[in-house]
Amino acid sequence: MSNAPLLLTPGPLTTSERTRRAMLTDWGSWDRDFNQLTASLCEQLLGIVNGSATHQCVPLQGSGTFAVEAAIGTLVPRDGKVLVLVNGAYGQRLAKICQVLGREFSTFHTAEDQPTTAADVDQLLAADPSVTHVALIHCETSTGILNPLAEIAQVVARHGKRLIIDAMSSFGALPIDAAQVPFTALIAASGKCLEGVPGMGFVFAENAALAGAAGNSHSLAMDLHDQHQYMARTGQWRFTPPTHVVAALHEALRQYNEEGGLPTRHQRYADNCKALLEAMAGLGFKSFLPAEIQAPIIVTFHAPRDSRYQFKDFYERVKAKGYILYPGKLTQVETFRVGCIGCVGKGGMRAAVEAVAQVLHEMNVTEI
Ligand SMILES: *Cc1c(COP(=O)(O)O)cnc(C)c1O
Repeated sequence: MSNAPLLLTPGPLTTSERTRRAMLTDWGSWDRDFNQLTASLCEQLLGIVNGSATHQCVPLQGSGTFAVEAAIGTLVPRDGKVLVLVNGAYGQRLAKICQVLGREFSTFHTAEDQPTTAADVDQLLAADPSVTHVALIHCETSTGILNPLAEIAQVVARHGKRLIIDAMSSFGALPIDAAQVPFTALIAASGKCLEGVPGMGFVFAENAALAGAAGNSHSLAMDLHDQHQYMARTGQWRFTPPTHVVAALHEALRQYNEEGGLPTRHQRYADNCKALLEAMAGLGFKSFLPAEIQAPIIVTFHAPRDSRYQFKDFYERVKAKGYILYPGKLTQVETFRVGCIGCVGKGGMRAAVEAVAQVLHEMNVTEI
Protein backbone atom coordinates (compact mmCIF):
# COMPACT_ATOMS: atom_id res chain seq x y z
CA MET A 1 0.00 0.00 0.00
CA SER A 2 2.77 2.44 0.92
CA ASN A 3 4.48 1.68 -2.41
CA ALA A 4 1.85 3.80 -4.14
CA PRO A 5 3.34 7.03 -5.50
CA LEU A 6 2.83 10.29 -3.64
CA LEU A 7 0.39 12.48 -5.57
CA LEU A 8 1.72 16.03 -5.68
CA THR A 9 -1.38 17.11 -7.58
CA PRO A 10 -4.25 19.38 -6.51
CA GLY A 11 -6.90 16.67 -6.26
CA PRO A 12 -7.14 13.78 -6.34
CA LEU A 13 -4.34 13.93 -3.82
CA THR A 14 -2.58 11.72 -1.31
CA THR A 15 -4.94 10.58 1.43
CA SER A 16 -4.12 8.92 4.74
CA GLU A 17 -4.47 5.20 5.17
CA ARG A 18 -7.07 5.88 7.85
CA THR A 19 -9.19 7.81 5.34
CA ARG A 20 -8.90 5.06 2.76
CA ARG A 21 -9.82 2.44 5.36
CA ALA A 22 -13.06 4.30 6.10
CA MET A 23 -14.19 3.13 2.66
CA LEU A 24 -14.15 -0.56 3.62
CA THR A 25 -17.69 -0.38 4.98
CA ASP A 26 -20.80 -0.45 2.79
CA TRP A 27 -23.60 1.89 3.80
CA GLY A 28 -27.29 1.85 2.95
CA SER A 29 -28.51 5.18 1.68
CA TRP A 30 -31.74 4.90 3.68
CA ASP A 31 -29.96 3.91 6.83
CA ARG A 32 -30.21 6.19 9.82
CA ASP A 33 -26.49 5.82 10.57
CA PHE A 34 -25.57 7.00 7.09
CA ASN A 35 -27.98 9.92 7.29
CA GLN A 36 -26.39 10.92 10.56
CA LEU A 37 -22.99 10.76 8.90
CA THR A 38 -24.20 13.17 6.19
CA ALA A 39 -25.78 15.53 8.72
CA SER A 40 -22.63 15.54 10.85
CA LEU A 41 -20.51 16.17 7.77
CA CYS A 42 -22.59 19.16 6.65
CA GLU A 43 -22.59 20.65 10.13
CA GLN A 44 -18.82 20.35 10.44
CA LEU A 45 -18.24 21.79 6.98
CA LEU A 46 -20.41 24.80 7.80
CA GLY A 47 -18.43 25.26 10.99
CA ILE A 48 -15.19 25.61 9.03
CA VAL A 49 -16.55 28.75 7.32
CA ASN A 50 -18.41 29.91 10.43
CA GLY A 51 -21.60 29.81 8.38
CA SER A 52 -24.02 27.90 10.64
CA ALA A 53 -26.23 30.93 11.31
CA THR A 54 -26.30 32.31 7.76
CA HIS A 55 -25.80 29.50 5.25
CA GLN A 56 -26.87 25.97 4.40
CA CYS A 57 -24.43 23.30 3.31
CA VAL A 58 -25.81 21.50 0.26
CA PRO A 59 -23.74 18.47 -0.79
CA LEU A 60 -23.85 17.23 -4.37
CA GLN A 61 -22.65 14.05 -6.08
CA GLY A 62 -19.89 14.50 -8.67
CA SER A 63 -16.61 16.33 -9.10
CA GLY A 64 -16.12 19.94 -8.06
CA THR A 65 -17.29 21.35 -11.39
CA PHE A 66 -20.70 19.71 -10.90
CA ALA A 67 -21.14 21.75 -7.72
CA VAL A 68 -20.00 24.96 -9.42
CA GLU A 69 -22.45 24.39 -12.26
CA ALA A 70 -25.22 23.57 -9.78
CA ALA A 71 -24.52 26.74 -7.77
CA ILE A 72 -24.68 29.00 -10.84
CA GLY A 73 -27.75 27.24 -12.20
CA THR A 74 -29.60 27.32 -8.88
CA LEU A 75 -28.58 30.63 -7.37
CA VAL A 76 -28.41 32.91 -10.41
CA PRO A 77 -31.97 33.60 -11.60
CA ARG A 78 -32.55 33.11 -15.32
CA ASP A 79 -32.67 36.89 -15.81
CA GLY A 80 -29.53 37.48 -13.71
CA LYS A 81 -26.16 38.60 -15.04
CA VAL A 82 -22.82 37.31 -13.80
CA LEU A 83 -19.55 39.22 -13.84
CA VAL A 84 -16.87 36.53 -14.04
CA LEU A 85 -13.36 37.46 -12.87
CA VAL A 86 -10.82 35.48 -14.87
CA ASN A 87 -7.10 34.91 -14.43
CA GLY A 88 -6.79 31.29 -15.36
CA ALA A 89 -8.47 28.13 -16.60
CA TYR A 90 -10.96 27.74 -13.75
CA GLY A 91 -12.21 31.31 -14.24
CA GLN A 92 -12.66 30.50 -17.92
CA ARG A 93 -14.59 27.38 -16.94
CA LEU A 94 -16.94 29.50 -14.80
CA ALA A 95 -17.67 31.71 -17.82
CA LYS A 96 -18.25 28.60 -19.95
CA ILE A 97 -20.76 27.33 -17.37
CA CYS A 98 -22.69 30.62 -17.58
CA GLN A 99 -22.66 30.34 -21.37
CA VAL A 100 -23.87 26.73 -21.41
CA LEU A 101 -26.58 27.45 -18.83
CA GLY A 102 -27.72 30.49 -20.80
CA ARG A 103 -27.05 32.99 -18.02
CA GLU A 104 -26.03 36.41 -19.26
CA PHE A 105 -22.44 37.16 -18.24
CA SER A 106 -19.46 39.36 -18.86
CA THR A 107 -15.83 38.53 -18.15
CA PHE A 108 -12.97 40.59 -16.77
CA HIS A 109 -9.54 39.19 -17.55
CA THR A 110 -6.26 39.88 -15.85
CA ALA A 111 -2.98 38.17 -16.76
CA GLU A 112 -2.32 34.77 -15.20
CA ASP A 113 0.15 36.36 -12.80
CA GLN A 114 -2.12 39.31 -11.89
CA PRO A 115 -4.75 39.02 -9.16
CA THR A 116 -8.07 40.74 -9.77
CA THR A 117 -8.21 43.74 -7.42
CA ALA A 118 -11.08 45.17 -5.39
CA ALA A 119 -10.58 48.47 -7.27
CA ASP A 120 -11.14 46.63 -10.59
CA VAL A 121 -14.38 45.15 -9.28
CA ASP A 122 -15.51 48.52 -7.90
CA GLN A 123 -15.10 50.12 -11.35
CA LEU A 124 -16.71 47.21 -13.19
CA LEU A 125 -19.79 47.24 -10.96
CA ALA A 126 -20.12 51.01 -11.20
CA ALA A 127 -19.94 50.76 -15.01
CA ASP A 128 -22.54 47.99 -15.38
CA PRO A 129 -25.55 48.17 -13.02
CA SER A 130 -27.17 45.18 -14.77
CA VAL A 131 -24.74 42.78 -13.07
CA THR A 132 -26.48 40.84 -10.29
CA HIS A 133 -23.72 38.37 -9.31
CA VAL A 134 -19.93 38.38 -9.25
CA ALA A 135 -18.09 35.06 -9.61
CA LEU A 136 -14.53 34.70 -8.34
CA ILE A 137 -11.94 31.93 -8.08
CA HIS A 138 -10.26 32.23 -4.68
CA CYS A 139 -7.09 30.27 -5.46
CA GLU A 140 -6.78 29.86 -9.25
CA THR A 141 -5.33 26.36 -9.32
CA SER A 142 -4.12 26.65 -12.91
CA THR A 143 -1.19 28.72 -11.57
CA GLY A 144 -1.59 28.81 -7.78
CA ILE A 145 -2.39 32.54 -7.67
CA LEU A 146 -4.38 33.89 -4.74
CA ASN A 147 -7.09 36.46 -5.47
CA PRO A 148 -7.93 38.99 -2.70
CA LEU A 149 -11.25 37.48 -1.65
CA ALA A 150 -11.95 39.53 1.50
CA GLU A 151 -11.44 42.90 -0.24
CA ILE A 152 -13.46 41.89 -3.30
CA ALA A 153 -16.29 40.58 -1.11
CA GLN A 154 -16.55 43.96 0.65
CA VAL A 155 -16.81 45.83 -2.65
CA VAL A 156 -19.41 43.42 -4.02
CA ALA A 157 -21.50 43.81 -0.86
CA ARG A 158 -21.18 47.60 -0.95
CA HIS A 159 -22.65 47.57 -4.45
CA GLY A 160 -25.52 45.38 -3.24
CA LYS A 161 -24.47 42.50 -5.51
CA ARG A 162 -24.10 38.82 -4.74
CA LEU A 163 -20.82 36.92 -4.65
CA ILE A 164 -20.23 33.35 -5.79
CA ILE A 165 -16.84 31.96 -4.77
CA ASP A 166 -15.11 28.93 -6.23
CA ALA A 167 -12.96 28.09 -3.20
CA MET A 168 -12.35 24.54 -4.37
CA SER A 169 -8.60 24.51 -3.83
CA SER A 170 -8.48 26.81 -0.78
CA PHE A 171 -11.37 25.77 1.44
CA GLY A 172 -10.18 24.11 4.64
CA ALA A 173 -6.64 25.48 4.35
CA LEU A 174 -7.03 29.24 3.87
CA PRO A 175 -9.28 31.03 6.37
CA ILE A 176 -12.69 32.24 5.12
CA ASP A 177 -15.16 33.52 7.72
CA ALA A 178 -18.75 33.95 6.52
CA ALA A 179 -19.34 36.53 9.24
CA GLN A 180 -16.56 38.73 7.81
CA VAL A 181 -16.66 37.85 4.12
CA PRO A 182 -20.18 38.22 2.72
CA PHE A 183 -21.04 35.64 0.05
CA THR A 184 -24.13 34.10 -1.51
CA ALA A 185 -22.39 30.85 -2.38
CA LEU A 186 -19.04 29.25 -1.70
CA ILE A 187 -18.16 26.02 -3.45
CA ALA A 188 -15.65 23.33 -2.52
CA ALA A 189 -15.22 19.56 -2.76
CA SER A 190 -14.22 16.43 -0.89
CA GLY A 191 -10.91 15.69 -2.57
CA LYS A 192 -8.87 18.85 -2.03
CA CYS A 193 -7.59 20.50 1.17
CA LEU A 194 -9.78 18.39 3.46
CA GLU A 195 -7.89 15.39 2.07
CA GLY A 196 -10.92 13.24 1.35
CA VAL A 197 -11.33 11.24 -1.84
CA PRO A 198 -12.95 12.83 -4.91
CA GLY A 199 -16.64 12.26 -5.64
CA MET A 200 -18.71 14.99 -4.04
CA GLY A 201 -18.84 18.77 -3.93
CA PHE A 202 -20.69 21.02 -1.54
CA VAL A 203 -22.09 24.52 -1.73
CA PHE A 204 -22.55 26.86 1.20
CA ALA A 205 -25.60 28.77 0.09
CA GLU A 206 -26.88 31.81 1.91
CA ASN A 207 -30.23 31.05 3.55
CA ALA A 208 -32.42 33.62 1.79
CA ALA A 209 -30.80 33.10 -1.62
CA LEU A 210 -31.35 29.34 -1.40
CA ALA A 211 -34.92 29.69 -0.14
CA GLY A 212 -35.70 32.00 -3.08
CA ALA A 213 -34.08 29.75 -5.70
CA ALA A 214 -36.98 27.39 -6.46
CA GLY A 215 -37.40 26.90 -10.19
CA ASN A 216 -34.18 28.65 -11.25
CA SER A 217 -32.37 25.48 -12.30
CA HIS A 218 -32.82 24.02 -15.79
CA SER A 219 -31.55 20.71 -14.47
CA LEU A 220 -33.23 18.21 -12.20
CA ALA A 221 -30.10 16.50 -10.88
CA MET A 222 -28.16 19.75 -10.41
CA ASP A 223 -30.92 21.64 -8.59
CA LEU A 224 -29.49 22.57 -5.20
CA HIS A 225 -32.78 23.98 -3.97
CA ASP A 226 -34.46 20.66 -4.56
CA GLN A 227 -31.49 18.73 -3.17
CA HIS A 228 -31.62 20.81 0.00
CA GLN A 229 -35.40 20.60 0.43
CA TYR A 230 -35.35 16.85 0.07
CA MET A 231 -32.46 16.43 2.49
CA ALA A 232 -34.06 18.77 5.04
CA ARG A 233 -37.29 16.77 4.84
CA THR A 234 -35.92 13.21 4.79
CA GLY A 235 -32.31 13.37 5.99
CA GLN A 236 -31.41 11.54 2.78
CA TRP A 237 -29.66 12.46 -0.43
CA ARG A 238 -32.15 12.89 -3.30
CA PHE A 239 -30.45 10.34 -5.53
CA THR A 240 -27.91 7.58 -4.79
CA PRO A 241 -25.30 9.13 -2.49
CA PRO A 242 -21.54 8.57 -2.90
CA THR A 243 -21.59 6.62 0.37
CA HIS A 244 -17.89 5.70 0.49
CA VAL A 245 -16.86 9.24 -0.37
CA VAL A 246 -19.03 10.61 2.44
CA ALA A 247 -17.57 8.11 4.91
CA ALA A 248 -14.00 8.91 3.82
CA LEU A 249 -14.58 12.65 4.10
CA HIS A 250 -16.10 12.21 7.54
CA GLU A 251 -13.01 10.29 8.64
CA ALA A 252 -10.71 12.86 6.97
CA LEU A 253 -12.48 15.59 8.97
CA ARG A 254 -11.84 13.71 12.19
CA GLN A 255 -8.14 13.79 11.42
CA TYR A 256 -8.38 17.45 10.36
CA ASN A 257 -9.83 18.31 13.77
CA GLU A 258 -7.41 16.10 15.71
CA GLU A 259 -4.49 17.82 13.96
CA GLY A 260 -5.80 21.24 15.03
CA GLY A 261 -8.18 22.22 12.25
CA LEU A 262 -7.62 24.98 9.73
CA PRO A 263 -4.64 26.79 11.32
CA THR A 264 -2.64 23.55 11.47
CA ARG A 265 -3.63 22.50 7.95
CA HIS A 266 -2.71 25.96 6.66
CA GLN A 267 0.65 25.84 8.43
CA ARG A 268 1.53 22.39 7.09
CA TYR A 269 0.76 23.47 3.52
CA ALA A 270 2.68 26.74 3.99
CA ASP A 271 5.66 24.71 5.27
CA ASN A 272 5.32 22.34 2.31
CA CYS A 273 5.25 25.25 -0.11
CA LYS A 274 8.28 26.89 1.48
CA ALA A 275 10.27 23.65 1.51
CA LEU A 276 9.36 23.04 -2.13
CA LEU A 277 10.26 26.55 -3.29
CA GLU A 278 13.58 26.51 -1.44
CA ALA A 279 14.64 23.07 -2.63
CA MET A 280 13.61 23.78 -6.24
CA ALA A 281 15.41 27.16 -6.16
CA GLY A 282 18.46 25.20 -5.04
CA LEU A 283 18.30 23.29 -8.33
CA GLY A 284 17.92 26.54 -10.27
CA PHE A 285 14.17 26.38 -10.91
CA LYS A 286 12.18 29.60 -11.04
CA SER A 287 8.58 29.74 -9.90
CA PHE A 288 6.08 31.50 -12.15
CA LEU A 289 4.45 33.67 -9.46
CA PRO A 290 6.04 36.18 -7.08
CA ALA A 291 5.83 35.12 -3.41
CA GLU A 292 3.22 37.77 -2.44
CA ILE A 293 0.52 36.24 -4.63
CA GLN A 294 1.55 32.57 -4.36
CA ALA A 295 -1.05 30.52 -2.44
CA PRO A 296 0.42 27.58 -0.47
CA ILE A 297 -1.62 25.13 -2.57
CA ILE A 298 0.21 24.50 -5.84
CA VAL A 299 3.34 25.97 -7.39
CA THR A 300 3.96 26.57 -11.09
CA PHE A 301 7.59 26.26 -12.18
CA HIS A 302 9.15 27.30 -15.45
CA ALA A 303 10.30 24.23 -17.36
CA PRO A 304 14.06 23.88 -17.91
CA ARG A 305 15.24 25.58 -21.11
CA ASP A 306 17.56 22.69 -21.88
CA SER A 307 16.60 21.00 -25.17
CA ARG A 308 17.03 17.60 -23.51
CA TYR A 309 14.06 18.37 -21.23
CA GLN A 310 10.68 16.96 -22.23
CA PHE A 311 7.81 16.98 -19.77
CA LYS A 312 6.56 13.47 -20.63
CA ASP A 313 9.95 11.85 -20.09
CA PHE A 314 10.60 13.95 -16.97
CA TYR A 315 7.17 13.05 -15.57
CA GLU A 316 7.61 9.30 -16.15
CA ARG A 317 11.05 9.25 -14.58
CA VAL A 318 9.91 11.20 -11.49
CA LYS A 319 6.91 8.89 -11.24
CA ALA A 320 9.20 5.86 -11.29
CA LYS A 321 10.86 7.34 -8.19
CA GLY A 322 7.50 7.60 -6.44
CA TYR A 323 6.18 11.09 -7.13
CA ILE A 324 3.37 12.24 -9.41
CA LEU A 325 3.79 15.79 -10.72
CA TYR A 326 1.27 17.84 -12.67
CA PRO A 327 1.54 19.34 -16.14
CA GLY A 328 1.43 23.11 -16.61
CA LYS A 329 -1.75 24.81 -17.74
CA LEU A 330 -0.37 27.98 -19.29
CA THR A 331 -0.58 28.62 -22.99
CA GLN A 332 2.25 31.13 -23.38
CA VAL A 333 5.06 29.60 -21.32
CA GLU A 334 6.26 26.04 -20.80
CA THR A 335 5.71 25.11 -17.14
CA PHE A 336 4.89 22.26 -14.80
CA ARG A 337 3.16 22.25 -11.44
CA VAL A 338 3.76 20.68 -8.04
CA GLY A 339 0.98 20.50 -5.47
CA CYS A 340 1.65 21.27 -1.78
CA ILE A 341 -1.61 19.76 -0.52
CA GLY A 342 -2.57 16.26 0.58
CA CYS A 343 -1.35 13.92 3.29
CA VAL A 344 2.30 14.92 2.95
CA GLY A 345 4.77 16.98 4.97
CA LYS A 346 7.86 19.00 4.14
CA GLY A 347 10.04 15.87 4.31
CA GLY A 348 7.97 14.42 1.47
CA MET A 349 8.33 17.64 -0.52
CA ARG A 350 12.11 17.63 -0.11
CA ALA A 351 12.28 13.97 -1.10
CA ALA A 352 10.28 14.77 -4.25
CA VAL A 353 12.73 17.52 -5.17
CA GLU A 354 15.60 15.10 -4.55
CA ALA A 355 13.94 12.76 -7.08
CA VAL A 356 13.65 15.69 -9.53
CA ALA A 357 17.39 16.36 -9.10
CA GLN A 358 18.26 12.74 -9.86
CA VAL A 359 16.00 12.72 -12.91
CA LEU A 360 17.56 15.90 -14.32
CA HIS A 361 20.94 14.22 -13.92
CA GLU A 362 19.71 11.05 -15.67
CA MET A 363 18.31 13.15 -18.52
CA ASN A 364 21.50 15.21 -18.79
CA VAL A 365 19.48 18.36 -18.30
CA THR A 366 21.92 21.00 -17.13
CA GLU A 367 20.41 24.30 -18.26
CA ILE A 368 17.48 25.13 -15.95
C1 LIG B 1 -10.32 21.28 -8.65
C2 LIG B 1 -10.98 22.59 -8.95
C3 LIG B 1 -12.28 22.63 -9.49
C4 LIG B 1 -13.09 21.40 -9.81
O1 LIG B 1 -12.51 20.59 -10.73
P1 LIG B 1 -13.09 19.11 -10.95
O2 LIG B 1 -12.11 18.54 -11.90
O3 LIG B 1 -14.44 19.22 -11.46
O4 LIG B 1 -13.07 18.47 -9.58
C5 LIG B 1 -12.86 23.86 -9.69
N1 LIG B 1 -12.21 24.99 -9.39
C6 LIG B 1 -10.96 25.00 -8.89
C7 LIG B 1 -10.31 26.30 -8.57
C8 LIG B 1 -10.30 23.79 -8.65
O5 LIG B 1 -9.07 23.79 -8.14
